[in-house]
Amino acid sequence: MSAAPRPSVACGTAPTAARTIIAERGQREVFCGLTGIVWLHRKIQDAFFLIVGSRTCAHLMQSAAGVMVFAEPRFGTAIMEEKDLAGLADANDELDRVVTQLLARLPDVKTLFLVGSCPSEVIKLDLARAAQRLQGERTDGVRILYYSGSGIETTFTQGEDACLAALVPELPASAPDAPPSLMIVGTLPDMVEDQFARMLAQMGIERVSFFPARNSRTLPEVGPNTRLLLAQPFLGETARLLEGRGATRLPAPFPFGADGTADWLRAAANAFGVPPATFETVIAAPRARARKALGGPRRQLEGKSIFFFPDSQLEPSLARFLHEELGMRLIEVASPYIHRDHLAEELARLPQSCRLVEGHDVDAQLDRARAAKPDIIVCGLGLANPLEAEGFTTKWSIELVFSPVHGFDQAADLAGLFARPLVRRDLLKV
Ligand code: SF4
Repeated sequence: MSAAPRPSVACGTAPTAARTIIAERGQREVFCGLTGIVWLHRKIQDAFFLIVGSRTCAHLMQSAAGVMVFAEPRFGTAIMEEKDLAGLADANDELDRVVTQLLARLPDVKTLFLVGSCPSEVIKLDLARAAQRLQGERTDGVRILYYSGSGIETTFTQGEDACLAALVPELPASAPDAPPSLMIVGTLPDMVEDQFARMLAQMGIERVSFFPARNSRTLPEVGPNTRLLLAQPFLGETARLLEGRGATRLPAPFPFGADGTADWLRAAANAFGVPPATFETVIAAPRARARKALGGPRRQLEGKSIFFFPDSQLEPSLARFLHEELGMRLIEVASPYIHRDHLAEELARLPQSCRLVEGHDVDAQLDRARAAKPDIIVCGLGLANPLEAEGFTTKWSIELVFSPVHGFDQAADLAGLFARPLVRRDLLKV
């Protein structure tokens, strides 16, 4: 599934002016934004994601999510048949029928996302208008929203950005005289959210919200007193809309690894006037635990070379962690889109020796990877098996988004995701 490239969003220039970022435009090899539903439906526990798409979309979701036969998943696909493709009026009637049936069967659903796909966009089915129409017909308070997960325009993590962007207009406005509050933006596993909430409370930062929240009825307030701390580096549109509601983003690296997590938390602590001694006391034990736990993977990864294909948009942040905290050699760090402002702190910490690439040109990149012969290649599923067959060791980038990898207590698990394929390779050597 490949698609035409599009320009990156809202890029700044100053912090990365010293870095050369090579732009590539060519063939792509990535999953589409529907994939984000896999982690979004686990997080927002009273939401349902209704993909309006084809059998291909349904198969993608089933294989990506590994849906259990007896589970009642909170996502599904309204499959467009050929007759729908022939007549939009029929498609709208059919959609109304499916939505009505679905919400009657699942009364716990409080937010329904209509998720657009390539087929719905190709026939120009106006799902934004359909969501408005369906919303207008309901009196039970169920919220109906639309976003696109189409592979025509997205790489797979942009699905989360589009979903959260659709929720931003729904956030209540905070009172003009409300005290400053901190909003952490980006889907985090509940366990990780709880760890961060605990540390921030210990620092004395009381008004903390997470977006998305576990429950779609408890949306956080936003306004001029809201400080944003991004937990994911792929939320350009969401951040732009939140800033449009008056919020201010706190510049920070992303919370990967012991140092990355410490610096991320420090950005919040500084913004909320937490005394440095209090900050250090709160993070001392978990940071020490993380540093100690990283010792094992560091012995396996230090000095090893790594090559990133553009896929998850986490690439610059992960590269910084692997280089700074585990001593890996970065050969190439490619990412679908590089947000110059959001990633400024990460880009400044990458060594000048690594090649930094924005965009896709899979054939050229395969040539470079083969020539460089890295110890490990991070890439999408579609490239991993052929590269393994050629003798390369690979890591699926999608696993890095599905797994709990943020924060102190997950730092060693994140490192282990890179160390394990190398250990396995060494064990298989004869
Ligand atoms: S949205 Fe497009 S790219 Fe994604 S599964 Fe459906 S057809 Fe394929």
